[in-house]
Amino acid sequence: MQPNVIFLASGNPHKIDELQQILRPMGIKLKSTLDYPDAEEVEEDQPDLDGNALKKARFWFTKTGLPSLADDTGLEVKALNGAPGVRSARYAGEKATYEQNVDKLLRELEGSHNRSSQFRTVIAYIDAVGNENLFEGICRGEIITERKGEKGFGYDPVFVPKGYDQTFAEISSEEKNRISHRGKAIQKFIQLLK
Ligand code: IMP
Repeated sequence: MQPNVIFLASGNPHKIDELQQILRPMGIKLKSTLDYPDAEEVEEDQPDLDGNALKKARFWFTKTGLPSLADDTGLEVKALNGAPGVRSARYAGEKATYEQNVDKLLRELEGSHNRSSQFRTVIAYIDAVGNENLFEGICRGEIITERKGEKGFGYDPVFVPKGYDQTFAEISSEEKNRISHRGKAIQKFIQLLK
């Protein structure tokens, strides 16, 4: 059944806007952690993406009583046995910047011919009566040897999605949302509401 309000366990304005734009035409209002400025942060300390997404969704479902959605994303690089994976945000250290994380990735892959990788997003959604659902979205591609493009965030300047010759940091946000890991996971989630 379609709820009137969904809680998104994020304070990231880009994620909030992206999802609100999709849900608004369906008559669904989005609340987020921005509506709870005094709440504690949920530590993303689980060993995999599913665990972190579920941990956040459960915390906020219990706190708000609203159907709650949380996501976690990792970049999985074949030659690095799936690293940085669940540690993508903290690859170069606990408070690492995007720039430091990308520098470390390029260093680790120096001289490597196998540069295939994928972004993987897991969305956890707990509905009004407490049923838990997981949705996965994957975008395959390659890590190039130096940054290209100014758009996007995170590892976007060094990730070229399969079938493209530009990085995520060079293509428009609309195009990225259409083919991205997060976009695909969101589309699967929307199907559940229909
Ligand atoms: P989060 O789970 O969405 O916070 O993502 C964890 C980390 O993965 C971020 O800090 C980024 O480094 C990276 N990441 C997630 N999504 C993307 C993306 O679409 N492009 C590039 N990097 C991303």
